[in-house]
Amino acid sequence: MALAIYGTGVSSGIAIGRAHVVRGRRLDTQEHPIEPDQVDREVRRFRLAVGRASEDLRRVRRQLPADTPVEVTEFLDIHVLMLEDSSIADAPAEIIAEQQCNAEWAINLQCDRLKAVFEEMEDPYIRSRANDVDQVIGRVLNQLAAEGADDYVGEHYRGLVLVAEDVDPASFLLLYQEGIAGLVTEHGGPLSHTAILARSLKMPAVMGLRNALRLINEGELVVLDGQRGVTLADPGRTVQRHYREKLRQESARQSLLQQVRRQPTQTVDRCPIRLQANVDLAEDMALAKLNGAQGVGLFRTEYLFLNREIPPDEEEQFQAYAALVGKLGDGATTIRTLDLGADKQVDSIRASGSSMINPALGLRAVRLCLSEQEMFLCQLRAILRATALGPVNILIPMLCNTQELFQVKSLVQQAERELRAEQVPVGPYQLGGMIEVPAAALSARTFAKNLDFLSIGTNDLIQYTLAIDRIDDQVGYLYDPLHPAVLKLLQITLDAAGAVGTPVSLCGEMAADTTYTRLLLGLGLRDFSVSPARLLEVRQVVNSTDLSVISRLTRRIMRASHPARIAALVRELNEV
Ligand code: PEP
Ligand code: MG
Repeated sequence: MALAIYGTGVSSGIAIGRAHVVRGRRLDTQEHPIEPDQVDREVRRFRLAVGRASEDLRRVRRQLPADTPVEVTEFLDIHVLMLEDSSIADAPAEIIAEQQCNAEWAINLQCDRLKAVFEEMEDPYIRSRANDVDQVIGRVLNQLAAEGADDYVGEHYRGLVLVAEDVDPASFLLLYQEGIAGLVTEHGGPLSHTAILARSLKMPAVMGLRNALRLINEGELVVLDGQRGVTLADPGRTVQRHYREKLRQESARQSLLQQVRRQPTQTVDRCPIRLQANVDLAEDMALAKLNGAQGVGLFRTEYLFLNREIPPDEEEQFQAYAALVGKLGDGATTIRTLDLGADKQVDSIRASGSSMINPALGLRAVRLCLSEQEMFLCQLRAILRATALGPVNILIPMLCNTQELFQVKSLVQQAERELRAEQVPVGPYQLGGMIEVPAAALSARTFAKNLDFLSIGTNDLIQYTLAIDRIDDQVGYLYDPLHPAVLKLLQITLDAAGAVGTPVSLCGEMAADTTYTRLLLGLGLRDFSVSPARLLEVRQVVNSTDLSVISRLTRRIMRASHPARIAALVRELNEV
């Protein structure tokens, strides 16, 4: 029977496909004693599952496009090798025979043993292998769980709607490469980095869908509506027809939007607005160029560090940055220094101890970089080398006091001095800071005076202002870009930067949501940086806005305090 399950739509679009339900494997893995004459059969089950998991990985590896980042291919190669190692390929079979138990139990037992060995290791790189053991064994367990279920075993993920408890950004990238059609998770919200990636890769996704694992069955047809935040399990023919029609309408809307592709971005009263692209992966550049982005307003470098054990060295980073510079007309490439920590963890550069209690408030972003100066200097050298190739901006995330800023400046100078001493060319560059914590917004004037530009990161600014963890769906209902406190901090930042003549852009997700475009223009924002997939929508709204008409309504919004009143005034603003 059809069932509608509601969550939060985090990436619009519709996906229609069979569900692939990924359960927390520990829940499913209990010990079942078996009879001696069942041992051979159980060992065969195990070996078949290992073979399928390995074939699956090899297939994904073969199908990867030629320009796939090397870290993704290496990651897959390591996992294939691990599946061939006797500690995974043979040891569980011995456990099945010795303990006369089911394959799931044996493999879980071996997983715990292997992880214990890795976790004992001093070397953080080797220690981090424990995660790979988990992931590789998870694949074998998935194969065991999928037995007999299916006519889609050969094509494990392609076209499927993945239903999981949670998916971290690194795994999401792999699933994307494997061709999933949509994503449903029980946890997570619109500001999680997985959600941001889903939007930039145009993958329909719904998060915070409680009980999804219980309510959606493996292999069942589902319709996922990323706009409305709903997933329909086992929909009837009429519902399917309705959604196929919606898919058709959406593709017609997208064709209409193409008309603004060649238009300049300017308001009705001819005020030019800069529209840049947020780039998470090198692949984003093609769409950014096609949709006429005037530069890269944010390149999140931390994605270069995910899904690998050894961080990229200076040369590899330089090559990655060089590939972006000068590719979007005359526009600059804004390279943000590492924002690791919180939901973007890398085992080899992991904050330890107290930071893990509340990682969003811990050793994250610039704080982590300042505590790992060698790694930071390596990145700064790579970015500075890229400045010789075209206009580059360096952007520092999560600044909260001027001391951090001066420390960063001195490290940038040190890296530049080193390069010049080595006769390595360094071009002109601008140094900017992100306004992401309320303290920085309230001190925006000082930051504006000491930096070449500011960039407002509303994803974090909202998280830290409203004290809501952006990846915790339980407090997701409190996320509100229109909260008067958030709007005041935006106004303070824009006014402070304006007063000292420092350019300011906004690169949080608020810039990409057309509900807020006019309000942001009314507050004085003239520079937006959004996911390439949203460029045309934002340009369409900018080009239909008359600044002289919206200023009075913007002032009324800023005076209002009641959420319903603010929302009504914003609706009015968007209709004039
Ligand atoms: C932000 O916080 O708004 C931002 C753009 O940075 P990130 O989403 O990567 O934290
Ligand atoms: Mg941020």
